[in-house]
Amino acid sequence: MSGVTAFIYSDEYLKYNFGPFHPFRPDREKKTLELLRKLGVINGISTRVYEPKVATEEELTLVHDPEYIYFVREKSEQGYGLLDYGDTPATRGIYEGAAARAGGSLLGADLIMRGEVAHAFNPGGGLHHARRSSAAGFCVFNDVALAARHLQRKYGLERVAIVDVDGHHGDGTQEIFNREKILTISFHRYGFFFYPGTGGVDEIGDGEGYGYAVNVPLPAGTNPASYLYAFKEIVPPLLQSYEPQIILHQFGVDSHYEDPLVGLSLTTAAYKAIAETMHRLAHELCDGRYLIFGGGGYAPENVARCWAVVFITVAEKMPESLEEYLKLFDRGETEVKGEVSRDIEAIVRRVKEKVFPLHGVEL
Ligand SMILES: [Zn+2]
Ligand SMILES: [Zn+2]
Repeated sequence: MSGVTAFIYSDEYLKYNFGPFHPFRPDREKKTLELLRKLGVINGISTRVYEPKVATEEELTLVHDPEYIYFVREKSEQGYGLLDYGDTPATRGIYEGAAARAGGSLLGADLIMRGEVAHAFNPGGGLHHARRSSAAGFCVFNDVALAARHLQRKYGLERVAIVDVDGHHGDGTQEIFNREKILTISFHRYGFFFYPGTGGVDEIGDGEGYGYAVNVPLPAGTNPASYLYAFKEIVPPLLQSYEPQIILHQFGVDSHYEDPLVGLSLTTAAYKAIAETMHRLAHELCDGRYLIFGGGGYAPENVARCWAVVFITVAEKMPESLEEYLKLFDRGETEVKGEVSRDIEAIVRRVKEKVFPLHGVEL
């Protein structure tokens, strides 16, 4: 059922390096590609690697303030200090690394819109905390928002859906589109003192965008069965009603149970189920147009495995060895088992009551 699936990668991504003691490891994308090659998944026919160009300043201004872009370039040349008020250091080359990753997301959008590929995965993207004029949470340029703006301006798209499954709230993306009819749905851990602190059920957008920001706040420890229940109750009906022309998907994997920063408890089997659902929806609703980004993921030995499962699932290209495929999965389990918690049922009900009526979707 699929056409070509693109894997977007450039060695320039390695310049997105916050230093040896920072939790964001810049080589996660390279490791993912190496793993996919080792598994025999990249065949150059239905699955291909594309190398992006670095995003130009003009492209970055689709979302970002010129002064902010200038600031990042200056700090990148200096090579010290901070890009935000806390956890996003300025290091030499960070500008080029960030612009390359943004270029990857723009290339993914172009490949899909030109019909060269059906699906594209830019694991170097998904930097969803970045704002119009500031860095935040290890994110310098918001490539998710850039891709959406590019699709609006260059291809005239009006209905772009953005689904975000990173363990943290997609706050930068939400803020950029807060007053527009760009559907953003974010699933994330939520609670006191958990970064970034936003993403409650009541945040649903403003003005023209009222009802188009959807937040699914999850308690620490949410298990895969509960997560998938929430996902399947909320995402398909909203997307079916919205009728997107393309689906954008921030696929951070810091919601994995071994991730040191988040505290949710997803497994690779859960990521497979999420990717299957989204892939099916893309074919059902928008001719397969499905652009996936990376995002968080701070247990480096797991990230490549998680993203390999996502890519294999969407490309529908099985590794040559079943044994090697099964090794990608936590405990070898390819399906999610377990019970849906009561807490989650209550949260899902609140989200539905808040936004479903605004989209004419039955509760
Ligand atoms: Zn497909
Ligand atoms: Zn995250």
